[in-house]
Amino acid sequence: MTNPLVLDNSDAVTFVGVAVDIPLPGLFDYVWSMEEVPMPGDSVLVPWGRKMVWGWVWEVRKTLPEGVQRDKVKAVAARIVEVPRLSERWMSLIGFASRYYHHPIGACIADTLPKSLKTVGKTSSVLPPLKKWAKQNASESGDVVPSVVMDLQSRALTQEQAAALSDIGAMSAFGVFLLHGITGSGKTEVYLQAILSKVQQGRQCLLLLPEINLTPAVEQFFAKRLQGLRVGTLHSGLTDTQRLKNWLAASTHRLDLIISTRLGVFTPLPALGLVIVDEEHDPSYKQMEGLKYSARDIAIMAGRLNDCPVVLGSATPSLETWHKTQSGQYRHLTLKQRAVAGAVLPQVELVDTRHHPSQAGLSKPVVEALKRALEAGEQSIVFLNRRGYAPTLMCESCGWVADCHQCSAHVVWHRKDGLLRCHHCGASKRVPAACPTCGNQDLTPFGCGTQRLEEALQAVLPSARILRIDADSTRGKGAAEAAFETAHHGEVDVLVGTQMVAKGHDFQRVRLVVAVNVDAALFSHQPKSAERLFSQLMQVAGRAGRAGGVGRFMVQTNYPHHPLFVSLLKQDYEGFAAFELDARRAAGFAPFVFQVLVRADHKRLDHAMGFLSVAKDLAQTLLAEMGWDESDTIRLCDPVPLTVVRVAGVERGQLLVESASRSALHAFLNRWLPVLWQEKGSVRWFIDVDPVEI
Ligand code: ADP
Ligand code: ZN
Ligand code: ZN
Repeated sequence: MTNPLVLDNSDAVTFVGVAVDIPLPGLFDYVWSMEEVPMPGDSVLVPWGRKMVWGWVWEVRKTLPEGVQRDKVKAVAARIVEVPRLSERWMSLIGFASRYYHHPIGACIADTLPKSLKTVGKTSSVLPPLKKWAKQNASESGDVVPSVVMDLQSRALTQEQAAALSDIGAMSAFGVFLLHGITGSGKTEVYLQAILSKVQQGRQCLLLLPEINLTPAVEQFFAKRLQGLRVGTLHSGLTDTQRLKNWLAASTHRLDLIISTRLGVFTPLPALGLVIVDEEHDPSYKQMEGLKYSARDIAIMAGRLNDCPVVLGSATPSLETWHKTQSGQYRHLTLKQRAVAGAVLPQVELVDTRHHPSQAGLSKPVVEALKRALEAGEQSIVFLNRRGYAPTLMCESCGWVADCHQCSAHVVWHRKDGLLRCHHCGASKRVPAACPTCGNQDLTPFGCGTQRLEEALQAVLPSARILRIDADSTRGKGAAEAAFETAHHGEVDVLVGTQMVAKGHDFQRVRLVVAVNVDAALFSHQPKSAERLFSQLMQVAGRAGRAGGVGRFMVQTNYPHHPLFVSLLKQDYEGFAAFELDARRAAGFAPFVFQVLVRADHKRLDHAMGFLSVAKDLAQTLLAEMGWDESDTIRLCDPVPLTVVRVAGVERGQLLVESASRSALHAFLNRWLPVLWQEKGSVRWFIDVDPVEI
């Protein structure tokens, strides 16, 4: 009766649940018909429709999940032996990210592994190096304790540094430290010695940096200071092959220290012993596309899964981190003094622009101070967080304003290129010779960007050597490094730029730092905007007087009595944080509530908004079924269009969901999102957990 050639005894068959690089949730079932025993973490090729796609074995099963028909299940086509099997701990981390951010598991893997790994099945170009590394792998173990020594110039730690280091060193299990040190307090030296001691114990360390431009200098610094250290970087500036090579070296313990931007937080490190997140408050740790993770939060989870300490370093911690430190979840280590003998924090001055009106962004007291610094042969920094020549171009006779034809936003005038460029969609067009509505040939810039400020500075300081550093001036490969190199070697009198000049650089000759046009951030509807402004100002102020002598920080504002400035004058982070946390508690903002945004995109706004209304209705029905009272557990806001509603021809709406309980929020999402998957239609939608912008 039964055909002996047909396998119907499911005990003899192995099934695998595969995470496939497809934007659909869940695992997909396949039969394993190869001789070798499958293991979770194996890289495989599987049939998907008529194509072959790449995937990872996630579960090995003896039976199929209920409801799956045996004859519909296809077989795994091949195992890709050249790709190292992913470790259990790494899979736990990806599994956590998938559950926490409610993002399909296959897409999580695809978004976090080096791109070139995915092409293994399709093109052959990555196979030869992979084979070579696999061979190397088999012949020598990476688990050697390197003999790393510190260079001889290493200095005695300050008392505060020594205390912080000893607390970190005493921790061998999981625990989170906030290393809260003012700018110039020598946090890097603490990182360095903590790393040294972990590496000497045969462990790996992961150091995350917020800014890709800082990685080469930091890598050099560590390589020079710690001889024998096997150090490598991971960031998007590497070629695919370099990145793959470093990733493999890291994942086979051939690197002791991995310095990386946010994407490196998912690197599987078999001997991870310490995670450091420098400038933990930096917004660039949040990934805004695909898997929208916070690298800081993932770093903490990686520390937990590897049972090792995590150090969050900052002069102005994020309020989430500060809140957790205050409540005792994180340990507070403080560095209150600058490490270099004699170096102190700069003096802060507010320039009231109601009494000292500014011309092209510069007030008289600021110009005077810049002149004096120039005469004294010092370097100065002028900070303005807006690139381009002017935020837009307008016609004063008819009121015409240059807008992007694809976005609901003004276009930015880039005068040097003769272009009007949209900072939302990237589209650019030539500056018109005359007003397109009334023909007026005298179009005027509105507002001020770094290019216009550079021009204004050159006009008031004709003999000064001025260097602008922003995303536009440093576009080419190596351009940013070259610019900072020039600045460090003193061939520049005035540096003008965006937050790029504020981050991490240890300029030796800077005495005077100026910040202009900061007021808009005081009144933004974005909950984190004041926090960001405060940390940016503290950070840029910190560039002054690092090598000794008293620095000077001048901020132009129309609102010198605003509480943010009152704290800034005293450089009182704790005062600012207390004020801001009170305000957020009162307003019901994070960290006192947990939030999730549902974003819907469509060519037509009514379609996007329609989807969100249906989503909200479904949520209400579901909450009623679950017996939860909407008013106290889950709060559903009304769907609204985004402030910049149209970008690149796509209209965007959002629906905010909040709860004071993180677990209630996620329990609700687990029920709600599968329902939304059914509703999709032609609207593209996604969710953002713990959004940084709402
Ligand atoms: P942070 O990252 O906290 O802003 P850095 O780590 O950049 O500070 O250190 C600031 C400066 O202090 C650097 O020039 C560094 O070489 C110096 N420094 C650090 N530790 C010491 C120390 N113990 N003694 C003297 N100088 C130090
Ligand atoms: Zn006009
Ligand atoms: Zn645009």
